[in-house]
Amino acid sequence: AIRVRFAPSPTGNLHVGGARTALFNWLYARNNGGTFVVRIEDTDTARSTRESEQAMIRDLRWLGLDWDEGPQDGDEDNEVGVLGEKGPYRQSERTTIYQELAQQLIDEGHAYRCFCTNEELEAMKAEAEEKKLPPIYRGPWANATEEEVQAKLDAGETYAVRFRVPKDDRVEIDDIVRGRVGWDTNTLGDFVILRSNGLPVYNFCVAVDDAKMEISHVIRAEEHLPNTLRQALVYRALGFPMPTFAHCSLILAPDRSKLSKRHGATSVGQFKELGYLPEAMNNYLAMLGWNDGTEKEIYTVEELSEAFSLDRITKSPAIFDLDKLKWMNGQHLRALDDSALADVLGPVLSSKGLASSGSDEHVVVALPLLREKLELAEDATDEMSAMLGYSFEDTIANASDKNCQKELESGGLKKVADAMLARHADGSLGAAISEGNLKGLLKDVGKELELKGKGLFMPTRIVLTGRSSGPDVGEQLRVVSLAEGAVDVCVGLD
Ligand code: GLU
Repeated sequence: AIRVRFAPSPTGNLHVGGARTALFNWLYARNNGGTFVVRIEDTDTARSTRESEQAMIRDLRWLGLDWDEGPQDGDEDNEVGVLGEKGPYRQSERTTIYQELAQQLIDEGHAYRCFCTNEELEAMKAEAEEKKLPPIYRGPWANATEEEVQAKLDAGETYAVRFRVPKDDRVEIDDIVRGRVGWDTNTLGDFVILRSNGLPVYNFCVAVDDAKMEISHVIRAEEHLPNTLRQALVYRALGFPMPTFAHCSLILAPDRSKLSKRHGATSVGQFKELGYLPEAMNNYLAMLGWNDGTEKEIYTVEELSEAFSLDRITKSPAIFDLDKLKWMNGQHLRALDDSALADVLGPVLSSKGLASSGSDEHVVVALPLLREKLELAEDATDEMSAMLGYSFEDTIANASDKNCQKELESGGLKKVADAMLARHADGSLGAAISEGNLKGLLKDVGKELELKGKGLFMPTRIVLTGRSSGPDVGEQLRVVSLAEGAVDVCVGLD
């Protein structure tokens, strides 16, 4: 059975790298009828927080990456326990499991108690340094007799448990992404698995959990590749079958440096705040180091989970390109049907006082006009406020745009403005707008002023919308007239 896991350390926010790892695991599970496990790796008690765990869980839910096993809900007010039989799914709640297995390893000779004091350890390190040897622990307790150990235990001394690394051996894995990777065990000292305070060490926990949770595929970031040696040794010693590994390449910034805060938004929460759609995030994250071998770039989540396979994960680093993500967001945003788009734009527009909700009449009429150029939901606020918030006087006074200036100088703007003001005053402009018959009115104005073509349309556009370009003038005016009364930013001709 395919069982995969996402195992975040709750020491911060969910970043794009972690989200991609989660997504790859989720897609692989969904594509293969497998099980997706979320496990919280909070052994680092100094850095792990419950807030971070909750935030990560919230972000995973926002992305729609639901899990079959894991903490049921990270919400403090709504703690419903765990989902699945192989829990608990928080390492901090699994201490006795690690302690029992450490004891088992001691009993079987794969691990031993080490009573070295810190001073002794420091001295050994210094000695190795002096002899220019790597600081590999081959301490005196590896071969201590039972009596020596018992004497220390009787004296009540504390000890760490160390894993006995086999000498002159090799560990090799067939990584799906990186191919065959191997390590010489002589490069590794006898590492601690339980500290003297009884708490387990990270790599031991990971191996124990992956084994006990029967994880079949470990799909994670390349930075964890070196950990695999320790983990594989623990696996072996415990007699568990080794999982299959897939170490995904790093995600770099466009300048090929490590992606960091200085490159802008990097956490899922930030992208959510900026108005990105979860479907666009998933699409983009999936393409960071994976492709299906075709030119196809836009995928729904369903399409992704159908197409995804581990053997098409790329070996070279992926570049995180914000412009590409934005473009992709536009593709997904514009592909939404009207009501879904209104649901997305409603809150954004109302936060700027441009609508009360996505179902406002003027929003419904504006949707096709807004849809055209959207990349981010907030782009709709610029367009909507341009439609609703222009002022006739300001337009004439500022006429900064080249087209406006030209019309101002030629007198066309003034003539059209007077004609429109007159029609505004007698109500015929309003009637034409609500009947959707601006064309008829324009014909009239054209005759009266002896203007036609661009000479008529350009000043009309400027007078009535405040801009020399933009969506259909009649439609824009309908939006304005429907918005009047609903919101208070309408200025227009008044
Ligand atoms: N807890 C590790 C992290 O957040 C992941 C470990 C793993 O996937 O094996 O980076």
